Amino acid sequence: MRGLFLCLSEQGHIVFCSGRVWYNASMSETFTTASIADTLSSLRTKREGLTSDQVRRRGSESMPNQLPAKKRLSGIQILLEQFKSILIYILLGAAVVTFLLGDHLDAYVILAAVAVNVVVGFIQEFRAQRALEQLREVVTHYAVVRRDGKRMQVDARSIVRGDVVILNAGDTVPADMRLSDVSELLINEASLTGESAPIAKTVEPLRSAVLVAEQKNMAFMGTTVVNGSGEGVVTAIGSETQLGNIATLISETEQEPTPLQQKLVGLGKLLGYVILAAAAVIFGIGLILGYELRETFATAVALAVAAIPEGMAVVVTVTLAIGMQRILKQRALVRKLVAAETLGSTTVICTDKTGTLTEGEMHVVRIITYNDEFDTHGVAGAGDAENVPAQSYFTALQIGVLASEAYIENPEAAVEHRTVVGMPTERALILLASQAGMNLEQIRKEHERLDVIPFSSEYKYMASLNRDPEHGMTINIKGAPEVLLHAAKKVDLDGTEQVLDKSKREKLRHQYQQLSSQGLRLLALGYKRVSKKTETIREDESVLEDMVLVGFAVIKDPLRADAAQTIKRCIAAGIRPVMLTGDHRLTARAIAEEIGLPHAEENVIEGAEFAKLSREELMQRIEKISVYARVTPADKLRIIDAWQEKGEVVAMTGDGVNDAPALKAADIGVALGSGTDVAKETADMVLLKNHFSTIVGAVEQGRIIYDNIKKAILFLLSDSFTLMILVVASLFFQWPLPLLAAQILWINLVTDSFPSIGLTLEPGEKDIMKQPPIPRKQPIIDNQMKWLIGLVSLLTGLLLLGVFYFVWNNTDSIERARTITFVAAAFTTLLYSFSYRSIRHYIWQSNPFANRYLLLGILAGTLFQLPVVYFPAFQSIFKTVSLSATDWLIALPTGVAAIIIIEIVKLIFNSKRLRSS
Ligand code: ATP
Repeated sequence: MRGLFLCLSEQGHIVFCSGRVWYNASMSETFTTASIADTLSSLRTKREGLTSDQVRRRGSESMPNQLPAKKRLSGIQILLEQFKSILIYILLGAAVVTFLLGDHLDAYVILAAVAVNVVVGFIQEFRAQRALEQLREVVTHYAVVRRDGKRMQVDARSIVRGDVVILNAGDTVPADMRLSDVSELLINEASLTGESAPIAKTVEPLRSAVLVAEQKNMAFMGTTVVNGSGEGVVTAIGSETQLGNIATLISETEQEPTPLQQKLVGLGKLLGYVILAAAAVIFGIGLILGYELRETFATAVALAVAAIPEGMAVVVTVTLAIGMQRILKQRALVRKLVAAETLGSTTVICTDKTGTLTEGEMHVVRIITYNDEFDTHGVAGAGDAENVPAQSYFTALQIGVLASEAYIENPEAAVEHRTVVGMPTERALILLASQAGMNLEQIRKEHERLDVIPFSSEYKYMASLNRDPEHGMTINIKGAPEVLLHAAKKVDLDGTEQVLDKSKREKLRHQYQQLSSQGLRLLALGYKRVSKKTETIREDESVLEDMVLVGFAVIKDPLRADAAQTIKRCIAAGIRPVMLTGDHRLTARAIAEEIGLPHAEENVIEGAEFAKLSREELMQRIEKISVYARVTPADKLRIIDAWQEKGEVVAMTGDGVNDAPALKAADIGVALGSGTDVAKETADMVLLKNHFSTIVGAVEQGRIIYDNIKKAILFLLSDSFTLMILVVASLFFQWPLPLLAAQILWINLVTDSFPSIGLTLEPGEKDIMKQPPIPRKQPIIDNQMKWLIGLVSLLTGLLLLGVFYFVWNNTDSIERARTITFVAAAFTTLLYSFSYRSIRHYIWQSNPFANRYLLLGILAGTLFQLPVVYFPAFQSIFKTVSLSATDWLIALPTGVAAIIIIEIVKLIFNSKRLRSS
């Protein structure tokens, strides 16, 4: 190891550290060189695991198995963040200059405006921060342990030193452990050592202490099992683990700024500089025209403040965070801010079938052997005199038990209360076997497993090498019917093996195809006797060769009640649903038909055919294909790539280790909550409720987020530019300033800041899922928005100037004219915020009370406006006079005029949209 040196870890251990990666020499080295027996005894545990009592005691003596939480941003830090804005610097500078110029009251007003602005910004960011934190806390990791001699699934935080943990492909290692058993166990330790190639693990003691990266008989917390399985005893938990020692490097998802945030920060800055330059020019012109220095300076500052849209970037952060919280309420966890932003643009959703479109709760409804067919409904073993299953039935079930990983967590409980843990397909088999009265533990004990080829959707079978009291050694196999039928040479007829001739083979093929085309899932079961000396098996063609087929398990996985409805919704929203399944073509097709996906011959493709398609052929066909059957995770990458090349934004679901690359490549990688840790950690979004409708619901929220960002920006920019036009136009006519600097500041930073928050919380428009997806490249400020901002600010700016001129001319009271303009300006924006609740729908089409946050915002705005006009103390600061009730009505015409113009622009753009669609 290059450049290795000694450092002191956070826990005070001496550690080696090289660049980013630290290696703790103190903890694991004693275990790496010790035998398994010594390790077990030094940790006072056994291979069967700890007892519940021991776990309880050890748990109370140590901290939970958790990494030290990342320090959250404190309130003070969030507050200080608010001062990192160009606007605040301008204001503070202006306050100082104003103070030096002797205008103390104005300086205080500026400071008050800064204070209010900082507080509003603080509240928004604090909410966003807490919302994001809450999202992080949702993820719970589970681990499989052996306690009291039984396997069970537990919350990984409850693991203690001495626990025996079982690892399987896809798991994140829950603590540091000394491995005691491995079967082709490969672990990716990149999160710890930076080494990206997976490490093959062993169990033998090492001859001498070595660095973490070379500790082959250890598994470390936070690393991921990419292949095989294993077992080990926990040597360190929580902050004592290697990962705990490098807590600062924990691969927590950093919320990087999204493209939209970056764009808006950039746009905000650009506008800021342009406006500053404009303000400087106006200051110069004002001086040349002979205006008083103090007043001109104040105007220039007010102008800059009025026009700089400082709230823009915050609006995006807040809307994204709140949107993520809303998605969480629908049981999906968005792990990356950028996903919240992209969701609304999703145009293709590729989804697995099992668990999302179907319930994922499988039941074996029939066992078919060559001569018999057993309806398993209500079968409780041999007790039923009418329906006594033949020997092959039990042989088939026994294969199912031996060639499965699933297990019963509480075998002592009554049948109906037993909990089966494992893959749905295997759970169905185990449940049936246990209902049929078979003693699974005894069967597994009598048929000790020597080796296993785990199930993989690539080769579509699982094989287990077991000792066999009667036949010496047997490989028990279960898998896709066509795979096993192809390899089988014989068939089992109640204990006698018969050659599987052509007609028998045809009969079986016909049987499984017929059942598949009813949407049922089929699993073939078979065995192969092998020499007593066989100790290992490997995945290659010879494993299945000459096997004996026993029968089929027919499994039903009911469709989710809302699957067809959601597919319809998806299509109406301009999104292409695509189903991917490892199941048989006929099963897939029957299901596609039931849920309303295109299912003609050209719409369905099978893995083997897909593999043969050239890139050109794929590009030609991709838009037609709605169903992929017998596909493997590797195929997913090609599918994503082809769609993306067509310019589509692709969401893809996945759950296994092999799905990780596809989840990464997709624009929105969606991991099933029931999936492996690896899938969850790679994904952009994790489904806590594995429904297809949850994905579509998240897309809907994505669209709402985007819409709300637009609405708030529209409001902020219209507001800013209105005030700027008012000031610039008055200079142009060489009239006195229609609003004083303090008044502009108040409107911009106080009164109108509340409704913009309200707009970010709009509930979403009813027909949002009847609109096409949001084009990804579409600029956030589109043409319609430009027109709206331009026309609204021009019109209201000039109307307000008219109001000012009218009152000034008729009453000759500049204070009165300014106060009325002040009130009118504030209320115009408050009023037209109702029109901005939708960019497509007219104001009369939506319920004005639907968004109580906006109503509260308007109320808050009004409440902040009143004292400035009526309280004598404020009157002297803001140079305002008390107004009569009718004076307030002057705000109405400008507000109504603004609303009319907004609605006209909507009308024009709506008819344009109609024409183009
Ligand atoms: P989907 O992709 O819709 O979720 P799936 O998960 O059922 O479908 P796979 O798990 O790849 O797809 O299964 C493909 C086929 O392999 C199944 O139709 C079944 O015949 C067989 N199979 C599924 N699970 C197992 C298993 N645990 N052991 C052996 N064979 C299995």
